[in-house]
Amino acid sequence: MTAQTVQRGELVTVIGLEVHVQLETETKIFCGCPTAPADEPNEHVCPVCLGLPGALPVCNEAAVEAAVKIGKAIDAEIPEETRFHRKNYFYPDLPKNFQITQYDEPICQAGELEINVEGERRAVEIERAHLEEDPGSLQHVGGGGIDTAEYTLVDYNRAGTPLMEIVTAPDFRSPSEVRAFLAELEEVLEYLGVFDAERDGSLRVDANLSMIPAEEVEDDGTIGPDALAAANRTEVKNISSHKGAEKALAYEETRQKNAIQRGRAVEQETRHWDESRGITVSMRSKEAEKDYRYFEEADLPPLRVSGWTDEIEIPELPRARRERFREEYELGEEAASKLTSTKQVADFYEDLASEFDPDLAATWVADELLGELNYRDMAITELEGRLDEVARLVELVAEDEITAKNAKEVVLRTMLDDGEDPDSIVDAEGLGKTGEGEVQAAVEEAIEENPDAVEDYHAGEGGAINFLVGQVMQKTGGSADPGDVNGMLREELSD
Ligand code: ZN
Ligand code: MN
Repeated sequence: MTAQTVQRGELVTVIGLEVHVQLETETKIFCGCPTAPADEPNEHVCPVCLGLPGALPVCNEAAVEAAVKIGKAIDAEIPEETRFHRKNYFYPDLPKNFQITQYDEPICQAGELEINVEGERRAVEIERAHLEEDPGSLQHVGGGGIDTAEYTLVDYNRAGTPLMEIVTAPDFRSPSEVRAFLAELEEVLEYLGVFDAERDGSLRVDANLSMIPAEEVEDDGTIGPDALAAANRTEVKNISSHKGAEKALAYEETRQKNAIQRGRAVEQETRHWDESRGITVSMRSKEAEKDYRYFEEADLPPLRVSGWTDEIEIPELPRARRERFREEYELGEEAASKLTSTKQVADFYEDLASEFDPDLAATWVADELLGELNYRDMAITELEGRLDEVARLVELVAEDEITAKNAKEVVLRTMLDDGEDPDSIVDAEGLGKTGEGEVQAAVEEAIEENPDAVEDYHAGEGGAINFLVGQVMQKTGGSADPGDVNGMLREELSD
C-alpha cells in the first residue's frame, strides 16, 4: 500500500503467529516414555514427565536433530550453544509447575519462510524457533467447555512430547496469508520427516492480531515498532488447523474493526477460539513475560550442537521441488503444486515419470489418483505398499492394454474400494483392450450392417459417425478405444 492510496480512518490488519508443532520422535524430550498414542490415560508416564521430586531430565538427541533440521529449512541461525529455561506457571496440565523451554537463547534464530500470496512470493520472517516440552492434556467432563464442566480429568501421556515453538514477526496482513503460511510450513515439516500432520493436535496456533491506522504503514509495507506498541492486540488461542486459523482471525478482524469504528477500545487480552460456535471469547487478561519468572534450568547442561549441524542433512524442500518439477517435467503451476504436496506424492510421481511419459504420469497422479483419494478422504500414506499396483495400472494405460476411461472409472475405483490389484480387476471385468484385428472386423461389420448411417455420413451428417462408433463399441464390449474406432471408421469410409 502506498501513502497516496491511504484514506483517513482506514485500518490495516497485523497478525503474528506462535505455532507449536509436535516433533515426531520415538520417545519424549526429557525421558524415555514413548510418544505413540496410548490405550489408556496416564499410561506413558514416568517420574520425569510426572514431575516427581528428584527426577532428572535428559535431553533427547532426536528432538535436537529435528530442531536443527527445521532451523536449516527456514534458513535460521543455529548457535553452537543454547540453553534451557524454566517457564513458571501453575496449571494442572503441568505437574512440575514449570515448563522446560528455551528463553533468550533459542536453538533457531532469525529465519524465514517464503509463501505464495495471490501469485506473489513473500518471505515471512521467523523471529525464533525453540524446543520445549508439551504439557499434559485436560479432559473437561459434563457440560462442554472449560467454564461449564462438572469436573476435569488430567492425562499426562502427552506431557513431555517434544515441541518446536515457531514465532513469526507480525508480517501477515490478512487471515488468508496466515492460512498460506501454515500450509507451507506443514509441507516443509512433513518433507523433513519431523512431523505427522494426521496426528490430533500436532499443530497448534496462537495468533495475535491488531488493527493499525493505515497512515502508520511505511511505503515499503512495514510498520514501525511504536505504531505496533500503540495498538492493543488480542491473542487468540486454541486454533488447531489452517482453516480454523483463517476463520478465527477473520472473526477477530471484524470484531476489532467494528469496535474501533464504533469508538470502543479493543482490550488487550487472550481470547479462546470456539470452533463449534465460530467465535472468539474472552478468557483472561494476557500475562506479561515477567509473570513467568523465567530462570535457567539447572538440571540440564547447556545444549551444544557445534560440529554436528553440518552433518545433519535435509531433503529438497517443497518449494525447490515444485520449481524443479515445473522445469524438468514442463508441468503447469497447479500440477506441480499438487505433485509436491507431500513427499510421498512427489517421490511416487518421480518414480512413474522415470518409467513412463511424464505427462501421463502427471495426469495419473495429480488428477486421477489424488482426485479419487480426495473423494474418499484418504491420504496417499494409506496406500503404503500398494503404490506398485497403481504403477502397474499406469503401465497398462501406457502400453495401451486398457482404455484410460476404464482404467480410471473401473480399475482405479475398484482398487481403492475393494483392495484388489489391477490385473485381477482387468481379468474379472474383461477390460483387456480388444486386439486391433478384432476391432477392424467390428468396424467393417458395423459399416456393412448400417448402410443408412453410411449414406448419412457421406451426406455430411455429423451424428452418423457417432452412431457407427457406438455400434463398434457395442460389438467389442466397450473395450475398444472410441478415438481409435472413430479414426478407423473414417479411414474405412474414405475408401
Ligand atoms: Zn516419562
Ligand atoms: Mn510454548
